[in-house]
Amino acid sequence: MKTEFSLAQLADPDIAEADKILRACVHCGFCTATCPTYVLLGDELDSPRGRIYLIKEMLEKDKPPTKEVVKHIDRCLSCLACMTTCPSGVNYMHLVDQARVRIERDFSRPLPERALRAILAWVLPRPKLFRAGMILARLGRPFAALLPTPKAAATPSLSRRIKAMLALAPTRLPAPGPQGGSVFPAIGERRARVALLQGCAQQVLAPRINQAAINLLTRHGVEVVLVKDEQCCGALTHHLGRDDDALARARANVTVWQREAEQGGLDAILMTTSGCGTVVKDYGFMLREDREFAAPAAQISALAKDITEYLGGIDLAPSTQQGDVTIAYHSACSLQHGQKITLLPKELLSKSGFVVKDVPESHLCCGSAGTYNILQPDIASRLRDRKVANIATVKPDMIAAGNIGCMVQIAGGTSVPVVHTIELLDWATGGPKPELRGRGLN
Ligand code: SF4
Ligand code: SF4
Repeated sequence: MKTEFSLAQLADPDIAEADKILRACVHCGFCTATCPTYVLLGDELDSPRGRIYLIKEMLEKDKPPTKEVVKHIDRCLSCLACMTTCPSGVNYMHLVDQARVRIERDFSRPLPERALRAILAWVLPRPKLFRAGMILARLGRPFAALLPTPKAAATPSLSRRIKAMLALAPTRLPAPGPQGGSVFPAIGERRARVALLQGCAQQVLAPRINQAAINLLTRHGVEVVLVKDEQCCGALTHHLGRDDDALARARANVTVWQREAEQGGLDAILMTTSGCGTVVKDYGFMLREDREFAAPAAQISALAKDITEYLGGIDLAPSTQQGDVTIAYHSACSLQHGQKITLLPKELLSKSGFVVKDVPESHLCCGSAGTYNILQPDIASRLRDRKVANIATVKPDMIAAGNIGCMVQIAGGTSVPVVHTIELLDWATGGPKPELRGRGLN
């Protein structure tokens, strides 16, 4: 794609990067076939190619984005299916990330929307506040019916979004799990030492996931550290275009993980939430212009691994499973498109004795996508219903996924229990059977 940036514009490293990405696009349109919003809405401007044109124009003109541009960029899930499909290697992720920052900086959203985004950006990355928010949402749930029910609109109304938020709140919250600063020694001879990202929403909604990872890792000779003063990885605010917040969190995490690596040694930094893993693996890029942090951030990104990626290099204990539990494996977009981890989780589950079924249209997002299911509830619900219908065709006993956002989203539409892949692997190698939860993970 031909671009028309001025030399002055190209002096900005972000614009130079955008220029490189845009020039790689040959507008073939292959990506449209796998883009969930194009598949649902059929509008070229809701396809990757359409969005790439909109972003190109916005950046070249260097003017505040129009309402129309914002509408179509906001509808993008950042699922990155387009990157998997693109034959030219267009890095849509870095382009849309930049577009979101530009929109956040230069576009004045209506006050209620600004307020909602500010609340999400403040509450979600802070587990104590998030927990309080979930309790309030649970109390507010019976009153959701009193809110007006507007028709589906191009930009969903505030009441529609609040309803979506209330619907996602669980009816009960588990007790908090172990805190930062905890160390779980290896059982038997220590073969490795890893940090396990605590996650922000996950540690409130499902601390059992990291507990299963700790159980399994320590049982296999790996010492696990929950690093003190670790923060939210920054994914949530990054996807809201609030880069100052996301970069501050990235720097803070690089600092504490580097400290831990120097003091106790770290063979890897593991994630049980693939949405976080995709962003931590991108810290090196996000901080590339930061003289102080560029090199350490790249080192931290190199240490970051999804839990299944790490377990792929370990001989797991013989399975206790007899092959009579059928699992529908839901491949989270951040894992399959963001980190290109596709076969490994299924192989680990199969080797552990589960009957693993692929879900039809597995490349399509479930609609969770960070805060997307709150900000774009109508598209998100349609994607969830489609995902749940596809899952039902394989008649599973359970659904497995590697990302808490997907787990909550899918559980909201089915009574089939939804578990994390690591819970199944822990169970198969000597851990407890996961508590089976259906709708809403409750
Ligand atoms: S598939 Fe790649 S090269 Fe083709 S239009 Fe989409 S982004 Fe551009
Ligand atoms: S990230 Fe997903 S929703 Fe956004 S353009 Fe690419 S395929 Fe479409």
